[in-house]
Amino acid sequence: MPDTTSGALSGVGVGTGAAVGTAVVLAPAARPPAGEPADPTAGPRIREAFDAVAAELRRRAESAAGTGAGTTADVLQATALMAADPGLLAVVDQRLAAGSGPATAVDEAVEQFCAVLAASGPYLAERVTDLRDVRDRVVARVLGLPEPGVPQLDGPSVVVARDLAPADTAALDLSLVVGIVTELGGPTSHTAIIAAQFDIPCVVRVAGAMGLTAGSAVAVDARTGAVTPEPPASLREEVEARRAARAALAASAGGPGRTADGTAVQLLANVGTLEDADRAAALDVEGVGLFRTEVLFLDRASAPTLQEQTDAYARVFTAFGDRKVVVRTLDAGADKPLAFVDVAAEENPALGVRGLRTSRRHPELLATQLAALAAAAERTGAQPWVMAPMVSTPDEARQFAAQARAAGLSTVGAMVEVPAAALRARRLVAAGLDFVSLGTNDLTQYAMAADRLEGDLADLLDPWQPAVLQLVQATGTVEVPVGVCGEAARDPLLALVLVGLGVRSLSMAPAAVPAVRFALSRTDLGTCTKMADAALEADSPDDARGAAARFADADVLAL
Ligand code: PEP
Ligand code: MG
Repeated sequence: MPDTTSGALSGVGVGTGAAVGTAVVLAPAARPPAGEPADPTAGPRIREAFDAVAAELRRRAESAAGTGAGTTADVLQATALMAADPGLLAVVDQRLAAGSGPATAVDEAVEQFCAVLAASGPYLAERVTDLRDVRDRVVARVLGLPEPGVPQLDGPSVVVARDLAPADTAALDLSLVVGIVTELGGPTSHTAIIAAQFDIPCVVRVAGAMGLTAGSAVAVDARTGAVTPEPPASLREEVEARRAARAALAASAGGPGRTADGTAVQLLANVGTLEDADRAAALDVEGVGLFRTEVLFLDRASAPTLQEQTDAYARVFTAFGDRKVVVRTLDAGADKPLAFVDVAAEENPALGVRGLRTSRRHPELLATQLAALAAAAERTGAQPWVMAPMVSTPDEARQFAAQARAAGLSTVGAMVEVPAAALRARRLVAAGLDFVSLGTNDLTQYAMAADRLEGDLADLLDPWQPAVLQLVQATGTVEVPVGVCGEAARDPLLALVLVGLGVRSLSMAPAAVPAVRFALSRTDLGTCTKMADAALEADSPDDARGAAARFADADVLAL
């Protein structure tokens, strides 16, 4: 349990690590106040704010160029130019003269420019986000508030934010981030997934996190969910000991995953970007169990071409050589919107046109992607496994399998992340699948009717929910390979339960692999089955965890 006697805050931990670092608090973007009074004399003040923001962007561009991050430097230079655009300032003056308040005038002028950019073709449309970032910085200065977003980190830092947007995470120097604490977000939100990817201890849903003092020391414990300001020496030592033990585990015996009695359980990596893939390829993993291809294109305004996609996939196949690579076709929509996949406004996007369903409206996207995967396989000699997200019915499985095979891909599967697919997994497989992979993040959200982004429902979103385990059990009996590629796979104890339910590959953030490998090596298959049976009999996640733990090796429980 979190230690709340020492002024610790508590939230929902993601993963099992712990760290101590300096709190860096990210200020949220300030909005112009409603009914802001007019101030026709504010022009010079606003000009100064734009100048200061442009100068800061130029400074960051120079330092990015100095570190060899050429693309980042170019984007920052381009953004600095926009911040210094006289046309933009002329519109601000017009809005001031028309009676808008200073921050409101900045907002209106920028939105006017954004509308023009958005209508000027894909390249310029991509600059809208950058221009809005300039607006947020200028508005903050005009209102005398701290600038939003990501400050430069000087040393090991615990990043504290209300919530982290993917763009914030991208701007962070992750090599200096030792912990992440957010007030909002959920355990399967993308911030949490990125934290796992980089093995950064993370605690979400921490009430009062924004009250942490910037610059002070803070300890983050992802196992207990405790966030302790000014940790005492004893806690610092404990955290240090745990970090050393994890590092030792990571350096210990590797190789393929096996239970204590020799059942093979493949240990695979989840990757999103090409950099992720390069990093994972250098590690002791048996391949990729989930290549989230949509992550490659999250910041794209226009659809990637056949050539661009072929090159990207070929790079990943080459990096992994003979090792297995499971590619997921674009999972656009809901929590992963892609600008070039246009779906009409939806009341409930998680229940809407997402995943494979987007190909009903945009069949050309799937056709191009399958052709690119086949071309990349041909070019590199790889034999990728290709699966579709959000498959719900045997008909969808049949159509996808037929289309993928017609494109020249020979190993075709589906994600099982909708309860209907889990319950009818045998029928899906009979429709022509070679394998299935359980996406426990979405499976939990849909089984429990709890939005995965709604951190207030973290208890329902726990993959130890017995109902979720029962859906895994229903899937685990099919006669083709069954894997898990959701976050559940990286919890060592839960991984054992999944194996007991019939799962034979586990895909996770690579940093989690050593602990899961260790847990498998200490547990035989019969024990995994007993753990699974006991967990299925429970009525709550805590009871399921407790029931499985009774069979576990003490060293596994200490991970
Ligand atoms: C899942 O839903 O478990 C999954 C692996 O896919 P994503 O998290 O990308 O939706
Ligand atoms: Mg999913």
